[in-house]
Amino acid sequence: LWQSVPLAPPDSIFQLTAAYKEDKFPQKINLGVGAYRDDDNKPWISARRQRGLAALSNTKKKRATRILLSDETLDHEYLPITGLPEFTAAAAKLILGSSSPALAESRVASVQTISGTGANHLGALFLSKFYQWGTNEKKVYLSNPTWANHHAIFKNVGIGPVDYPYYDPKTIGLDFTGLVGALNAAPERSVFLLHGCAHNPTGVDPTPEQWAAIADAMLAKKHYAFVDCAYQGFASGDLDKDAWAVRFFVEKGVAMLVCQSFAKNAGLYGERVGALHIVSPDQETSAKVKSQLSVLSRSEISNPPTHGARIVSMILNNPNMFEAWKQDIRTMAGRIIDMRKELFRLLTEELHTPGNWDHIVNQIGMFSFTGITPAQSKALITDAHVYLTGNGRISMAGLNSKNVRYFAESLDAVVRN
Ligand code: PMP
Repeated sequence: LWQSVPLAPPDSIFQLTAAYKEDKFPQKINLGVGAYRDDDNKPWISARRQRGLAALSNTKKKRATRILLSDETLDHEYLPITGLPEFTAAAAKLILGSSSPALAESRVASVQTISGTGANHLGALFLSKFYQWGTNEKKVYLSNPTWANHHAIFKNVGIGPVDYPYYDPKTIGLDFTGLVGALNAAPERSVFLLHGCAHNPTGVDPTPEQWAAIADAMLAKKHYAFVDCAYQGFASGDLDKDAWAVRFFVEKGVAMLVCQSFAKNAGLYGERVGALHIVSPDQETSAKVKSQLSVLSRSEISNPPTHGARIVSMILNNPNMFEAWKQDIRTMAGRIIDMRKELFRLLTEELHTPGNWDHIVNQIGMFSFTGITPAQSKALITDAHVYLTGNGRISMAGLNSKNVRYFAESLDAVVRN
């Protein structure tokens, strides 16, 4: 029966991780995976447990989980189709801001999703069914490059991905002229996917002035902003600062939705906790949107999972836990920023590696586009056992005080070759 099914290629990132795990070289480094690691290359929670930090009892997930497990009022019943209301309400406030005009006017439909991926999928599915495409083809404009999964997610729901210029290899920065040119050239009411902060894979974000110009162009052409925000807190270490562009777009009245993930900022990768927030012009419309999101979610997952949503809800709704979490985020983002500075220092001051490396400190978030060629990326894997994607992207979270020098020296060697 299934003989004619073509064999799909394995996912390149997970393949990279598998190759890294197989590698016996002691100084091997994995810079492929987009998950936070501490200075001992350990995931956040287990690292804290290992070091026996006094803060453990305050550690958000541990404490929240303990409270949840001992709470006899909690059961294992289904959540509402659209999710845990205390979670979705607090999540909306976190991304849109507690003084958001859209929240005050009850015109945001928020639905709990299977992490950020599920939010992207549900948003794409909703647009595919209900967006006023008019005479436009069902297309979404994606930054070139973008998170690879964006292409698959939109194609799966019958929306064709088209690239818009974003990254300029000459400056290793934003191709702002190209981006605004694409906004102006696209037919009215086109859908543009924008990364809310900490662009994956480039680490290149627009400045506030550039965001303002993007918003103006979106408004002038009545475009729709599909905002994916998977790294709130990871760019600057400040949740509010990283939500600035999203909030600015809402204030400006750009038609939009936001996809939110708690995988990275709460370290809840496996719990799959996220949300989709669709902003509507008025409360009545928002109620209709939410009713349709509920229908779509029902047919896909029936009810979202409880555990992660309960943990995040507890953190967001408890002022002490919220403060402790903000400190965790500052620590994680701060370590990444320190690694950028140290890598930059080693390349420029110690090794005098040819080329300009300013982008290492100018880019933000978990990822950095190094600007090296695919051949140089490959050489890093084969010669130095440093694993990274072929486009030269590195996850800064994979660097630490013990391996950053080895990485800088390896990078220096491939660049000189
Ligand atoms: N959007 C972007 C841009 C991402 O980088 C990621 C994670 N790699 C996601 C969404 C979704 O991640 P998750 O489903 O784990 O929340």
